[in-house]
Amino acid sequence: MNDLPRLNKKLIITILKSRKLENMKLISYVEDFFRKERGYIFKMPNQGEQVILLFSGGLDTSIVAAILMEIYKLEIYPVFTRRGHPYQHAEEKAADYFTKFFQNRYPGQFHDLIKINTSFPPTEIRWAYEKVENKPINKNSNQLWGDYFYSNLLVTFGAQCAYFLQIIKNFKIRTIFTAYMKSDGEGKLDMTLTTMRGIMLGVCLVTHDMNWQITSLPLEKEIGFFYDKDYFIKWATKHNIPLEKTRSSCRAKSDQHCGRCLICYIRQKSFKNAGIQDKTNYLNTSRLHRLRKITKIFIPNNKLRQIIKNSIGMK
Ligand SMILES: [Zn+2]
Repeated sequence: MNDLPRLNKKLIITILKSRKLENMKLISYVEDFFRKERGYIFKMPNQGEQVILLFSGGLDTSIVAAILMEIYKLEIYPVFTRRGHPYQHAEEKAADYFTKFFQNRYPGQFHDLIKINTSFPPTEIRWAYEKVENKPINKNSNQLWGDYFYSNLLVTFGAQCAYFLQIIKNFKIRTIFTAYMKSDGEGKLDMTLTTMRGIMLGVCLVTHDMNWQITSLPLEKEIGFFYDKDYFIKWATKHNIPLEKTRSSCRAKSDQHCGRCLICYIRQKSFKNAGIQDKTNYLNTSRLHRLRKITKIFIPNNKLRQIIKNSIGMK
């Protein structure tokens, strides 16, 4: 069943300690709390159990969906959020495509998308955020403007959908997956393991229910994961997932990726790191090389990459 090798926890902790945006003290407090409170930090639900996946039709969420169904045999209720973003239409098209694809490949395991309409940031103040999107808050920081609350918002919707299903279908879902990769948490604080642990604690506290599990599959150290996009791209390619149909958060309004922005650069670079041909149909790739300088925060440290690869026997 298991074709995704695991890292040992010591190595994951070494990686976590090397990451600027993780807070080891907080991780340790929260994990101790859960160990005492319920006897575990995270445990993978049993085969056939129902879970929520925050699903965008992007590279990461599509691969995570496939892994949850293929390896862990889980039944997914995917939640798609329309946030009023410029690439919403293209994203939704990809999400709809993968819904059909997954329902066909994994019958009964991928339910219809639960689509939520919202505006993030709120419409009235969005214009200010648009001026600073994808820029660091200052020269010495990896933290980007504006996105602090993204994970919180999406997880809250996920939890509300779990209660919705409980009311109308009378079953309980208490596990919500996100699909943040290792490099996401090198630029964005709300996509770190620290934040995932904090949000899990918050949801348990506000609902007075200690059974909630909120995690990002690629970062879940309890199952031996701490991986980046390249690793998951390899897995997906081996399992014939049509990755070129996924839609990254490139801001182009077109169905095609622009090929000029930071997001497109990271997408292209991830395929390159994986040694897999990128079949994405970009509008234009001529300016991607200019972005290299500003992407060093997103590109995993080479030495660390090698340690990870050695530890799982990859070349
Ligand atoms: Zn782009």
